[in-house]
Amino acid sequence: MFEQIPVEVGLVHEGERVRKNDMQVELGGPAEAEKCELVRVRKAETITDGEIAIIGPDISTMEEGKHYPLGILVEIAGPKVEPDLEGVIERRIHEYSNYIEGFMHLNQRYDIWIRLSKKSYKKGLNSFRFIGKVMLELFRNELPILEKVQITFITDPEKLKPLYREALEQYEARDARARGLLDGDVDVFYGCALCQSFAPTHICVITPQRYANCGAISWFDGRAAAGIDPKGPIYTIEKGECLDPEKGEYTGVNESAKKRSMGEISRVFLYSAFGYPHTSCGCFEGIAFYIPEADGFGIVLRGFRDLTVNGLAFSTMADSTAGGRQVDGFHGISIEYMRSSLFMHADGGYNRVVWMPAETKERLRDFIPASVCPAIATEKDVKTIPELKHFLTTHNHPVVQRWTSEEETPPKPGNSPPVFSAGDIPITTGGFRIILKNARITAEKVIILPVKAPEPGGGEHRGKKK
Ligand code: SF4
Repeated sequence: MFEQIPVEVGLVHEGERVRKNDMQVELGGPAEAEKCELVRVRKAETITDGEIAIIGPDISTMEEGKHYPLGILVEIAGPKVEPDLEGVIERRIHEYSNYIEGFMHLNQRYDIWIRLSKKSYKKGLNSFRFIGKVMLELFRNELPILEKVQITFITDPEKLKPLYREALEQYEARDARARGLLDGDVDVFYGCALCQSFAPTHICVITPQRYANCGAISWFDGRAAAGIDPKGPIYTIEKGECLDPEKGEYTGVNESAKKRSMGEISRVFLYSAFGYPHTSCGCFEGIAFYIPEADGFGIVLRGFRDLTVNGLAFSTMADSTAGGRQVDGFHGISIEYMRSSLFMHADGGYNRVVWMPAETKERLRDFIPASVCPAIATEKDVKTIPELKHFLTTHNHPVVQRWTSEEETPPKPGNSPPVFSAGDIPITTGGFRIILKNARITAEKVIILPVKAPEPGGGEHRGKKK
């Protein structure tokens, strides 16, 4: 099928990373303001099946080590092809292009980030024609309902603008279509395992009120995908019994997560960042991160380039959040989930959100309760945690009522004892090195004591401070 492609194509290459030093070129990504991928259903007579068009410089003319804008437009037709499928088929671009050796596709929609390795370039992968050919073949083979497919790659920044505008309008229209339906209105949810190549224990649970982490798949998209390809990566999850409506725990979701994660994940709270939060792959649009000093949450989206109020950048927190783990107090979220009335419902929703970038706040203003919106700080209001606490106090943020005497009682996440999670905690004792894998430690009280170097002839001196 791929004889004319100069590199290998197959599942084995899914999940490959291309590091900066190894990349021939970067397409889209954080350095490019405008980039996108879009699938549109068209009338059959307007499509030339199998056509691959390139508008702007092709890969062979791009300078090594540089970044370029990119738009990918996939136009499809067929008697059974409905516009409802556009979002689902669009997500397959991520999957199929990642089968190509040395071609890394990350993220989705307006946020695509692609790298081509020097090694694959030297093997001859020097044109979008090869990428398009692989995608065409896989679309035809895996989704036979597509009778006609044509693909256009746009790297000319001016020619990309109209596609970028159209893409943003389409994403918003799709998201708006899914609003209004409640989790309680449906009998089934949908699961997506597309990102398991990067995060083997991760699945997204897609409900009407909890959009997929990547922001690309709604409950309606899940239904359409499971309908056309029931054995595919997007599948039906029977809700089962609701064990906790506040946290969003369902027996069917727990069973499905356990099965699909090979037993690693046994419980999932859909609307809480504590205890058993929804896992995060790496494609999430944003992160909700717990700020213990304020007993509240910060929100940061992928595009925010500065440090957040806790002194960490998005990329640093993304490394700790991603990988299919459940990290107490940290989880990946989509923008559409932030528009849901069940957004972190068990944790207090927006009454628990204390900081977010100004641009994000503006974008979500219509969905944040007016009573708390002015009390949520941004990078324009505060830079540090002490400044944040002062801002929250002076703006009478509801979270302040949760604070008790700081000296006596530290804030408690989720009204439970502090829980600390870490990837691996190494302990060296008695000549052995013990590694606690994915350790979770619960403590009734945390005492932090600065350790001073031993004094000559004496023992350790430890200051007294909590
Ligand atoms: S982030 Fe979730 S919904 Fe989106 S592609 Fe990955 S697994 Fe699927």
